Amino acid sequence: MRVSQLFNKTLKEDPAEAEIISHSLLIRSGMIRKLAPGVFSYLPLGWKVLNKISNIIREEMNRSSCQELMMPIIQPKELWEQSGRWFVYGKELIRLKDRHGKEYCLSPTHEEVITTLVKNEIKSYKDLPLNLYQIQNKYRDEVRPRFGLIRSREFLMKDGYSFNQNEESLNQTYEEMYNAYSRIFTRCGLDFRTVDADSGAIGGSSSHEFMVLAETGEAALTICKSCDYAANMEMAVHKKRKYENGIEAKLEKVITPDKKSIEEVSQFLNINPDLMLKTLIYKAVFPENEKLVCVVVRGNRAVNEIKLKNAVNSIDLILADNEEVIKATNIPIGFIGPIGLSNIDIYVDEEVMDVKNGSTGALKKDYHYIGVNAERDFPKNSIIGDFHNVDEFDVCNKCGEQLYFKRGTEVGQVFKLGKKYSEKLDCKFLDDKGVSQNVTMGCYGIGVGRTMAASVEQNHDGNGIIWPKSIAPYHVIIIPVNMKNIEIIEIAEDLYENLLKENIEVLLDDTDERAGVKFANADLIGYPIKIVIGSKTLKSKTVDFKIRSTNEEFNVPLEEAIEMTKRILQ
Ligand SMILES: [Zn+2]
Repeated sequence: MRVSQLFNKTLKEDPAEAEIISHSLLIRSGMIRKLAPGVFSYLPLGWKVLNKISNIIREEMNRSSCQELMMPIIQPKELWEQSGRWFVYGKELIRLKDRHGKEYCLSPTHEEVITTLVKNEIKSYKDLPLNLYQIQNKYRDEVRPRFGLIRSREFLMKDGYSFNQNEESLNQTYEEMYNAYSRIFTRCGLDFRTVDADSGAIGGSSSHEFMVLAETGEAALTICKSCDYAANMEMAVHKKRKYENGIEAKLEKVITPDKKSIEEVSQFLNINPDLMLKTLIYKAVFPENEKLVCVVVRGNRAVNEIKLKNAVNSIDLILADNEEVIKATNIPIGFIGPIGLSNIDIYVDEEVMDVKNGSTGALKKDYHYIGVNAERDFPKNSIIGDFHNVDEFDVCNKCGEQLYFKRGTEVGQVFKLGKKYSEKLDCKFLDDKGVSQNVTMGCYGIGVGRTMAASVEQNHDGNGIIWPKSIAPYHVIIIPVNMKNIEIIEIAEDLYENLLKENIEVLLDDTDERAGVKFANADLIGYPIKIVIGSKTLKSKTVDFKIRSTNEEFNVPLEEAIEMTKRILQ
């Protein structure tokens, strides 16, 4: 391809709406253009990248006995009512009506359609296992589409679904998909981690997320410095920490005038913050009602609200304000404690239970308890669990090395769905004893556009994108520095033709732009190799190679340029 013919215009300025680097660079490099909020066109270079990612996915899926098909994006309401998700999905589901008033949605996912499709085709265990996938657009009505391809309303996804006889067979398919996903993201040139994930709204018993590490990632991750342990913050665990828990003492109420925060009270009473028992009140929101819950963690710890929310099993959890707390308990926030607190469920972090001589609010304004022994003094019906955030002083539960924190962008997820959908949608098969059973399912997704954006988040510099070779739109760009010099043009054209003959994905920048502009555009778009043809070529019959990822530059005899290109691309 010649740059003069390429449908590509680069921009000098960052687009105003771009909050993260991938959004900005994909627009500036002319890969994507916005049509409406969260809705994008993929221009030829961007589409080439997406297709390369899709093809890597296809190859690895097909290698794993997974078959590609294509299902409708428009899906009837009745199916979604059968699965119970027409309401559960809420406002994120884009709904529409046809001219007869029949209701549909634009698909955010395909469990309903594929389960219905498969149940009408399979009869017995001989038809199983079955593993099917597609690559197509999905839809989600995000409240606030942002971050370009990271949170858009229309997005390209690979979604796959497996149908198995039993849990054991599902486990095998799940492992195959897990391995295939690892190969896919490795082949895409990404630094990623897999994390145990909370399966959220899709449901099911087990799930892993594939996270591309990048400073601007949306998820906070806990990662081990030494082994492969990685987890989302809401699932992260650590080796039990050793504390000084104090020597058992008498429970006493002491005056702490106007001392509310952990720091104030710990200083005033001269008690280590580790032994201050921080008590917080949350408003838990359920479908029908709301109620207050109390959580107690050590003073050095922060409450992990997702861990707590999962234990409470509420839709939402909001820190109660002073007014709400006073209304419920007659006590202002800083003096709340679990001892003697009634009518509110009390969740106690497991680390608190070891405290022998701590302090907490005494349920009386301006008073705290000292000598608190959690085991002895806390209400016996307290719910004990892990409700705290892992922090930088914690070490890995698997290997004992230090844990650290990074951000990541989720690009893929694998779920064990079990029988959730096969029961609701009545998808059955006859087992080898002739007994009718519900199939056991798994589902496996990859955000193709997200993978593209995450790659840019991870691979860029001040000049632009640095595509890994496997997904770069073109591998090589030939830059003749002076388009008025016939000899230079002839050498560039000749090299271009010869690289094409070798099936190398090459561009020739035959535009009349200044050399500086050509270099800047090539760096912004992120081609792995630049080959520069200039006066040096005329003088010494050599060309300059510039490698985007390493900034290496070297001079090569013209007749070795093709071999050198092939060697770099291998
Ligand atoms: Zn470890």
